[in-house]
Amino acid sequence: MSVPAVDLTVCPDRLESDLGALAQLVETDHPGWTRTALGPVDREARELVRRWMADVGLETSVDGAGNLFGRLRGTGSGGHSLMVGSHTDSVIGGGRFDGIVGVVGALEAVRVLRESGRQLEHDLVVVDFFNEEPNEFGLSCVGSRAMVGELTGDHLGLRDDQGRTLADALEGVGIDPAGALGAGYDFSGVDTFLELHIEQGPYLEAQGSQVGLVESITGISRFRALFTGQADHAGTAPMDRRRDAGCAAAGTVLAVERIAAEGDHTKGTSGQVTFTPAAVNVVTAHAEFRGEFRGPEGEWLRHAQERLTAAAGEEGHRRGVDVEVDWLPLQEPAPMSDPVLATLTEVVDGLGLTSSRLFSGAEHDAAVLARRVPTGMLFVPSRDGRSHCPEEWTDLADVTAGVTALTQALIALDRRGKP
Ligand SMILES: [Zn+2]
Repeated sequence: MSVPAVDLTVCPDRLESDLGALAQLVETDHPGWTRTALGPVDREARELVRRWMADVGLETSVDGAGNLFGRLRGTGSGGHSLMVGSHTDSVIGGGRFDGIVGVVGALEAVRVLRESGRQLEHDLVVVDFFNEEPNEFGLSCVGSRAMVGELTGDHLGLRDDQGRTLADALEGVGIDPAGALGAGYDFSGVDTFLELHIEQGPYLEAQGSQVGLVESITGISRFRALFTGQADHAGTAPMDRRRDAGCAAAGTVLAVERIAAEGDHTKGTSGQVTFTPAAVNVVTAHAEFRGEFRGPEGEWLRHAQERLTAAAGEEGHRRGVDVEVDWLPLQEPAPMSDPVLATLTEVVDGLGLTSSRLFSGAEHDAAVLARRVPTGMLFVPSRDGRSHCPEEWTDLADVTAGVTALTQALIALDRRGKP
């Protein structure tokens, strides 16, 4: 079944102009488009978005965690709302489209609705979430976490390489840490949350699809592995008597790759590998690395944890190397709401857009919101699947199609009420 599209026109020129204006506000000491949430430019970008919100007739507000809201009052008296948005911060050396497509797209949806003279029954709340990308304290989705009441004092005490706490960094950008902890949002009247985002992967392009309908967002399981062996002379220590922590770590890195390759849509990555002493002629005494698994099934992630812990133990055992693997709290996969996904599918079909259902291997604010609100997510294609790099690109026609689907979906959801 498809929903007949309502007659309205999204304006590509406005989208291009807004995307271009935000692309100007970047930290120039990095390549690509860098707008880190705790850096010097993000505040300016958010102030620009706040002005745009006010210009299109939204009542703006900022909560204690730095999340920016713009509310368009609906005609209904029930206090029900639809929420839509994404983020404007970026990773260091990131691209032009990640996050901002969903914010600029939501604003364009408001403009188009107003121009059409159509009033929604629901309030429409546009959100620019604060600090979605992982910051230098290793925390992502700071704003959306705060909204669902999952930002904690432990999070605020996280330290960066310089020993500075997240609380200090928040104060540095004008956010009171106590206010951030108290920024829980009352979701009781929120019927649906929608996020439009670039895919950041190659699937839609390969399928020739204009729009992606997200079925679920990845779970993530991160760990730190420590290997303790013994430093020895590289020329004299016999191979069969070495306690080489580096080799045990290397074997474990390969186990991450092997385990992830055996799953369905699963990923495994090892980063931040350190050998000490880092000398060409010394057997490695200490090795440390951090890695992660991602996948659509929580059960698979738990199984991968067991397998990797066992593999690391084996790699250590046969070399006389002590091994310690610490797992961070597992972030469960976030299935999107079935009724919302059904509505998005009908809307996209009604517009005659080509689409594919897919799983998101990247994390998003939508995964956090999905724990509290029926949530849906739309993707638009990324050229060559590239993202988090300066080459990140989505054609304006694809952005326009995504924003059109988003706008039509808001109208359809407004009619249907709570899924
Ligand atoms: Zn993003």
